[in-house]
Amino acid sequence: MLKIYNTLTGKKEPFEPLTAGTVKMYVCGVTVYDECHLGHARSALVFEMIRRYLEHSGLSVTFVKNFTDVDDKIINRANELKIPWQAVTARYIDTYYRDMGRLGIQPATVEPKATEHMAEIIALVQVLIQKGVAYQVNSDVYFQVEKYGAYGRLSKRKLDDMQAGARVEVDERKRHPMDFALWKGAKPGEPSWDSPWGKGRPGWHIECSAMSMKHLGETFDIHGGGADLIFPHHENEIAQSCGATGKEFARYWIHNGFVQINQEKMSKSLGNFFTIREIFEKWGYREPVTAEALKYFLLSSHYRSPLNFSDQALLEAKRALDDFYDLFGRLEDSPSAKNSGKISDNDPVRKAAKQLPKAVGEFGEDFRDRMDDDFNTPDAIAMFHKLQTLVNTQLRIGFSDDCIKARDVMRSFGKVLGLFQLPVREWQFQDRAIKLEAEHLIPDSELERLIVERSEAKKRRDFARADEIRQALAAQGITLEDRPDGTTRWKR
Ligand SMILES: [Zn+2]
Repeated sequence: MLKIYNTLTGKKEPFEPLTAGTVKMYVCGVTVYDECHLGHARSALVFEMIRRYLEHSGLSVTFVKNFTDVDDKIINRANELKIPWQAVTARYIDTYYRDMGRLGIQPATVEPKATEHMAEIIALVQVLIQKGVAYQVNSDVYFQVEKYGAYGRLSKRKLDDMQAGARVEVDERKRHPMDFALWKGAKPGEPSWDSPWGKGRPGWHIECSAMSMKHLGETFDIHGGGADLIFPHHENEIAQSCGATGKEFARYWIHNGFVQINQEKMSKSLGNFFTIREIFEKWGYREPVTAEALKYFLLSSHYRSPLNFSDQALLEAKRALDDFYDLFGRLEDSPSAKNSGKISDNDPVRKAAKQLPKAVGEFGEDFRDRMDDDFNTPDAIAMFHKLQTLVNTQLRIGFSDDCIKARDVMRSFGKVLGLFQLPVREWQFQDRAIKLEAEHLIPDSELERLIVERSEAKKRRDFARADEIRQALAAQGITLEDRPDGTTRWKR
């Protein structure tokens, strides 16, 4: 039976959908003001894997993933680019579909937009005011957190601690510093909609409550998103939804872990930020090849673990896939010609190969065991490796039908993870990244050495040498940024 780690209870729990045979799942989508980055790719691939596995288990999944298409970030971007805000959202919805297409991610069953749900949002805010858990101040409406006794139950925080710990600007209009906006009165030039409180637009959190309840009902099975959304976004969604209905909202909360780059948190301000487009361009394989490498890399860690991205890690993922595709290719090329009579019955190779039929026969059940354990994809991937090794061992003795059965099993169960799906002739075996490194890139170790040398040059006031190093690196597309603490950050 499938067990899911539920952030709400802090435990792995047996998954029992509300209606047998069906799953209703909502995942917070992107705010469309910029291109999707690696963190978006991880979240998208994790929930794609979960959806496919639920379907593979015979469940019918209704999957809702929204677009946040009205937000401060969108308005700021529109002002920056001097274009209408609708042009910003249209542009980044397009790039979202381009990137998801590259990654091979299927569209959700419903992909609602906040701006197309104003009636539902306004109605929900009205209910919250009627129930006395929200209050109006001028043209704004706030949720009153003290009126929802269970506030903090998802993020395991106490309201008093939050108040003490939060460096919240004192806002005289709020009754409690943690109260959050459900509706914001319009400022001049901002997008706005008519409401009982005057022209304005929704706060961020309310849209997900309104859209999930509209498309999935007041109580549904799974709510997901990145771990960064637990607080305040998902905490606030729970407060709003339960505050309005008096019923449970989502029953299982699933959160995927962060992506780090070279052991640091990925963020624009740190400059270690990769968009999905950049990864596809940099690696330069055909898109489905890069996509599989990225999936293999992302699913090799458990979805809840933090994940460290580096070029090396992606390269290793690609090479692991090369080995699988190489094996598939050898099985296509007249395998029967490879019989070797030289290996005796008592040879360890022959003994090892005898495990192949059993491993093939039990693969489905073993795969289910791993995936039922909170979607343990790293263990599932390890099973594919084990099978691959057994087929290679069998091929040293000679071809057998079990080799083909093993390949078919790998291809068929690989579908759940989005792996091993390309025809062998479409796979690209050559190591493009290595070629790139030789042609253009300084290896990281050499780069670190030059940075140390430059800092030593600066210390002895040899600014000519320090500048020389900076310029040499700039010529390779690497910029250096000296930080106040004396260390230097670099960026390609
Ligand atoms: Zn949301």
